Amino acid sequence: SQDRVFNFAAGPATLPENVLLKAQSELYNWHGSGMSVMEMSHRGKDFRSIIEKAEADLRSLLNIPENYAVLFLQGGATTQFAAVPLNLCAPGDSVDYLVTGSWGDKAFKEAKKYCNPKVIWSGKSENYVRVPSFDGLELNPNAKYLHICANETIYGVEFKDYPVPCNPNGVLVADMSSNFCSKPVDVTKFGLIYAGAQKNVGPSGVCIVIVRKDLLGNAQEITPVMLNYKIHADNNSLYNTPPCYGIYMCGLVFEDLLKQGGLEEVEKKNHKKAGILYNAIDESKGFYRCPVEKSVRSMMNVPFTLEKSELEAEFLKEAEKEKMVQLKGHRSVGGMRASIYNAMPLAGVEKLVAFMKDFQAKHA
Ligand code: PMP
Repeated sequence: SQDRVFNFAAGPATLPENVLLKAQSELYNWHGSGMSVMEMSHRGKDFRSIIEKAEADLRSLLNIPENYAVLFLQGGATTQFAAVPLNLCAPGDSVDYLVTGSWGDKAFKEAKKYCNPKVIWSGKSENYVRVPSFDGLELNPNAKYLHICANETIYGVEFKDYPVPCNPNGVLVADMSSNFCSKPVDVTKFGLIYAGAQKNVGPSGVCIVIVRKDLLGNAQEITPVMLNYKIHADNNSLYNTPPCYGIYMCGLVFEDLLKQGGLEEVEKKNHKKAGILYNAIDESKGFYRCPVEKSVRSMMNVPFTLEKSELEAEFLKEAEKEKMVQLKGHRSVGGMRASIYNAMPLAGVEKLVAFMKDFQAKHA
């Protein structure tokens, strides 16, 4: 609508307008219950219907098989950096990390406290612009799991297919925080998927974990109750008070994604949006530049620099005047970054592209 901006933030990020309006209409008195979702007992039937529907809708969106648990947790994706090794390995166990950006690197560093992780490949020396070929990877045949970050939010590097662990009993683990539900994913390729909600599916405060059930029950002795997946699975994410309102919002987003026709349709839209933006960058004759290797460019986070870097501040200021905000790149890399999650409308990307062309014409 007129008074909303196009918000290109990496997260917390823009949410679908119809979801916000629905939440607004239900805020004061949810379905005649006489109270808001924020005020409900998490053990009452109303909230249970909300969390059960959110889980069921997510299961149908991602085709999640019965032998996987879906958990709605707290503490952000960062908490999972510790919870993953605590739940999946004993202290001395070997695990592999494939590092394609700074989130994967953070996950590796946290895992060092709880097991014996090894970086089998890192893109750091090249400034994280690619994913390696899987053929040449020196995977550890004993690794309990292989960890990847499916989409590196800061550098804009996204896996388009997935490596297979070399240990037949090992599993693939993925941080999908920034491309969760942006496209169909074959969940059965993974032992565990985790994602903070605040990019594609809801507000911050909820972190979703999808984990194969046979992996549960072997957490290290020191694992805090709140980080123990089995406890949350056995209690349907209601062991303690969950982030009720955030889960409700995620549920509204899942419902909306299903209404759009599911993740195949969502992927088509994302493909189109990312396509026009990358084209604009590539066709700018170097005025704008995206350093990421074309085959692994993210559909969600599009980083780009200006050849004349002295114009960056003006670019941001002018964009903001036209109600396009949060385009500044991450403080660790500079430049620009346009995050174009599911909820960013095509109109927002078209407006950005028109603005970029216009800005270039003025300053070329
Ligand atoms: N992983 C990825 C890929 C992310 O983008 C982020 C947040 N930007 C995190 C992990 C950390 O998430 P949180 O802030 O929810 O802990």
